[in-house]
Amino acid sequence: MKVGILGGGQLARMIALAGYPLGLKFIVLDPDENAGAAGLSEHLQGAYDDPDLLAQLAEKADVVTYEFENVPAHVAEFLASHTSVYPPANALAVAQDRLLEKNFFNEIGIGTAPYAAIDNLRDLQHAMATIGYPAILKSRRMGYDGKGQVVLKSEAELESAWHSMQGAPSIVEGFVPFQREVSIIAARRPSGDIVFYPLSENQHSGGILRVARACTGDAEQAMAEDYARRLLEKLDYVGVIALELFDVNGRLLANEFAPRVHNSGHWSIEGSETSQFENHLRAILDLPLGSTQTRGHAAMVNFIGGLPDTRELLNLSHAHLHLYDKSPRKGRKVAHATVRSDDAGAFNNTLQTLSALARRVDNS
Ligand code: ATP
Ligand code: MG
Ligand code: MG
Repeated sequence: MKVGILGGGQLARMIALAGYPLGLKFIVLDPDENAGAAGLSEHLQGAYDDPDLLAQLAEKADVVTYEFENVPAHVAEFLASHTSVYPPANALAVAQDRLLEKNFFNEIGIGTAPYAAIDNLRDLQHAMATIGYPAILKSRRMGYDGKGQVVLKSEAELESAWHSMQGAPSIVEGFVPFQREVSIIAARRPSGDIVFYPLSENQHSGGILRVARACTGDAEQAMAEDYARRLLEKLDYVGVIALELFDVNGRLLANEFAPRVHNSGHWSIEGSETSQFENHLRAILDLPLGSTQTRGHAAMVNFIGGLPDTRELLNLSHAHLHLYDKSPRKGRKVAHATVRSDDAGAFNNTLQTLSALARRVDNS
């Protein structure tokens, strides 16, 4: 079987690495000749909406998936008319637009921050009368790692904040006073079977994920699973999904979902019986899903903008290094390390060391 992947970055790379033991082959479509997964896979180089390349991809791949959610909707639809495409195009369409996404959460009974659609300065001034400060203005489309977002602290900032959006359709949302951020990763196969990973507790700074940690036996697990199940079933979803949540005094509010494997689940490579990448493949190929049981304590640290001496990282017991084959650039995720151990003390020590190393090279 050959799996096609739109996008050839680190997520595609980790999907491919999970698929080789299952005898799978891969073909990626990516505009960058140096894409990290390209060295591991057959590579079609060019734009995501190039009709010739899409026809070749559809011809060569038994099933097509993607590693990022901003594939034009017509591309997913074109591919779906020629081969199997998972997750489904409707899930992409909702996840691509923060307004549709927030509306959808509310329709299926999942709470969010208060929000309003913003198309001009008047809309923003009007909405802020009810939403209140602080708040966040976000472009509806194309944002990631906190890009295209401005925090609003007072009325005096509205005009410049709106100008910085350069006219892009946006939403404004109330700033959630959360105690912690968590995400739940789940996988669903066409038969309807679902598996859930333990919650991941996620630390962000500057809008970018820094550290993610598996929380087995968490008090909010059941609520998060209920929300993820609603999403999966309502979207008739196939593949791995990640739902980002704010925990406010034991109540979970949805932030966004990603229709793909997710950075907050990278600890599952060494930290789970079956990684999110393998379960994504199993789901889209309609194979039995694997156990999501954790293997001891597990967490992940991102390296952003720079990388410590790899020898220093490889010297750390309980740490597992994943390089993305990307040249360091400000704010760019270039690698992560998982820490996994049965021993809580050893786990915490390595996690602290890794976090300190990541902070030292951080350039974001
Ligand atoms: P990514 O897709 O990389 O997770 P993104 O650009 O889509 O990021 P969000 O997830 O919306 O951005 O926001 C990034 C981070 O900013 C959140 O994880 C959270 O830390 C903070 N944040 C976003 N919205 C809110 C909010 N309404 N209240 C409080 N904090 C928020
Ligand atoms: Mg996002
Ligand atoms: Mg997010």
